[in-house]
Amino acid sequence: MEPPLPLDRHGRPLGVLRLSLTARCNLACPYCLPDGVEPPGLLNRAQRLSVVRAAVALGVRSLRLTGGEPLLHSGLEDLISGAAPLRQSASSGTAGLAEIALTTNGSLLTAARARSLRKAGLDRITLSLDGTTGTSVAAMAGLAGGTTAGDDLLAKVLAAIEHAREAGFDPGKGALKLNAVIQRGRNDDQLMALADLARQRRVELRLIEYMDVGNRNGWDPAQVISAAEMVDRIATRWPLEPIGRPSHGTASRWRYRDGAGHLAVVASITAPFCGDCSRLRLTADGVAYTCLFAASGLDLKPWLQPSPDPEGLDRALRSLWRQRRDRYSEERSMAPAAVSEAKNPRAHAEMAYLGG
Ligand code: SAM
Ligand code: SF4
Repeated sequence: MEPPLPLDRHGRPLGVLRLSLTARCNLACPYCLPDGVEPPGLLNRAQRLSVVRAAVALGVRSLRLTGGEPLLHSGLEDLISGAAPLRQSASSGTAGLAEIALTTNGSLLTAARARSLRKAGLDRITLSLDGTTGTSVAAMAGLAGGTTAGDDLLAKVLAAIEHAREAGFDPGKGALKLNAVIQRGRNDDQLMALADLARQRRVELRLIEYMDVGNRNGWDPAQVISAAEMVDRIATRWPLEPIGRPSHGTASRWRYRDGAGHLAVVASITAPFCGDCSRLRLTADGVAYTCLFAASGLDLKPWLQPSPDPEGLDRALRSLWRQRRDRYSEERSMAPAAVSEAKNPRAHAEMAYLGG
């Protein structure tokens, strides 16, 4: 008989695996500040697929590919097609992956790349865009070239939305979404325009509260705009009705009353959702983290080198998940001191290394 699926110390199952494929990025968003170079010891395709296989056996049903910028990874399509045998099959009743998703800044998503990702078996794409003007996009993406460079990036991301749609990522079925981080005093003047842009293009906008991830972004709670304030501001112009947050999800969703689609907010600062968090993260160099805000993780390389050891990997991941007790965001909101401590934070792993 198969051993039961593991639950962590708070009774939470494992459900989502986020793979960071590279710590590098072609942008330098000041709220993220990725490394310019890869960590040593990057995993190869076979090693990554071994971890995905082991995680699926422990309950993972959703695989999210991220980074850094995952489109910089030339083996992306190969990895996606390699995960096909791990899919669930309704006919045979096999439990397995229900979806493979990608989070990207979109700057490299050409029409050909969107088609090749679709062909490889990618189900969903989330594109990140934090402004609707060249000036705001340049500031939020950390572009040295100012407004002209921002205009260029904006044009690429807007084109990427259409490339993804044409390749078959249907926003009406939740297969194409937009992420935006909103920071007070930096791009909050873009909130309404971003909502308008997403409504016009019938793409769900997911507004993310500015988070205290990593150690480099100089996080200041005064720059956080709460999800409630963002929803209130948008609802004043376009009335909204709540749909709620799906269990194990990160985003609370809303429906525009005029039928122009949906809006979502990720309130990990003001309304943390650690209670049903089912996410495991794997860095590009094979370290497993059980929380976005963790200081350290478990290096899986001993079970991946020189060749993958499936039984050892199963034992290591099972034990890691059973010991998991992270609920950083809830603890932060219960102990305001932790928020001021975040101005001089404990060493968190960086966002681009962990995978957002
Ligand atoms: N490069 C890709 C991208 O930007 O979509 C994938 C990696 S990025 C780390 C994933 C997501 O994390 C992006 O939507 C980004 O805006 C978000 N993110 C990064 N740093 C953040 C922060 N400090 N607070 C909130 N969201 C953040
Ligand atoms: Fe790069 Fe994404 Fe980080 Fe921006 S948020 S610097 S695009 S990894």
